Amino acid sequence: MQHITLASRPKGAPTQDNFAMETAPVPEPGAGEVLVRVHYMSLDPYMRGRMDDAKSYAAPVPIGGTMEGGGVGEVLTSNADGFSPGDMVLGMFGWTTHAVADAKTLRKLNPDLGPITAALGVLGMPGFTGWHGLMEYGRPKAGETLVVAAATGPVGSMVGQLAKSLGLRTVGIAGGPDKCTLATDRFGFDACIDHRAHADAKSLRTALKHAAPDGIDIYFENVGGKVLEAVMPLMNPHGRIPVCGMISWYNAGGLGAGADTTLSAPALWRPILVNFLSVNGFIISNHWDRLPAFLAEVAPKVLNGDIKVVEDIAEGLENAPGAFIGLLDGKNVGKQLVKLI
Ligand code: NDP
Repeated sequence: MQHITLASRPKGAPTQDNFAMETAPVPEPGAGEVLVRVHYMSLDPYMRGRMDDAKSYAAPVPIGGTMEGGGVGEVLTSNADGFSPGDMVLGMFGWTTHAVADAKTLRKLNPDLGPITAALGVLGMPGFTGWHGLMEYGRPKAGETLVVAAATGPVGSMVGQLAKSLGLRTVGIAGGPDKCTLATDRFGFDACIDHRAHADAKSLRTALKHAAPDGIDIYFENVGGKVLEAVMPLMNPHGRIPVCGMISWYNAGGLGAGADTTLSAPALWRPILVNFLSVNGFIISNHWDRLPAFLAEVAPKVLNGDIKVVEDIAEGLENAPGAFIGLLDGKNVGKQLVKLI
């Protein structure tokens, strides 16, 4: 088997040198465990945080440890009740071709219900994140205006499509004209702004004012930086900000060094105070109890095509580091996956 380990901790944006591809014997499953051949693995922005040795909501990957991540694969050998060879399962296998997993941590997938890759994207952790963050903390109401950046990714596209279906005006922010076309034509956003076409927050804010003439009621925060700075003065009274991510700062170690914003604490806090904003951070792994409700509501919409899916599939484990580096820089178009078999 092959797996990718963390060779060194990045300073700023990760590079290929931070990763090492290693070969090891295929492990044997113990009692209650299964051996899985991973078919697809997921690449997600949170993995950048795991590469830093900093206090966070999850422990860092140790140097020499296998990079963490979710995947879907086929059970090859089972020592666990309820799992048989040939079953397709979802689990946290890491960046690896094979993994032994405790059966209790796995979710069995039904390939008859659609492509198994959905369990990593639209019907997996990122799609669930968009649904939970929007419904729980965004509290959407028909006629309101929602803004979300990373609008064509699995979180942002879920947020935009659900909000649109609930009667909101939806404004996406995405990197480049092609992604903006995808946002409006496929994901149904009412408008999309290319953040790369605006050198600073002021210019971006002017474009946002045109796209959101009635102000912003929900800003679903995925990126921080210049976008946050542009949005804050446009928030309407009683607006809501689900704080989901801040990817523009991840390569700065989360502390904002070199960040593309001059947003000061007063410029952030004042609109929160005077417009009575609700700002809610959340980490989706604390909310798995809501997954069945999400699947019951959203899976039928994916099956009937009401919720659209776009995936970006890299081929081969050796290309995972490059695809991940690209994801942090907006090179992915849709949910980033790696096909291993
Ligand atoms: P995406 O697949 O959308 O990929 C990340 C995207 O972020 C890039 O494609 C790029 O899109 C955008 N981006 C990167 N750098 C910048 C920048 N400087 N300014 C603006 N946009 C940038 O990711 P996901 O949908 O998986 O995740 C979206 C967000 O949700 C992330 O912040 C992630 O960490 C967060 N998240 C949080 C969870 C939680 O539990 N709180 C769970 C899951 C995700 P573009 O080219 O369009 O700008």
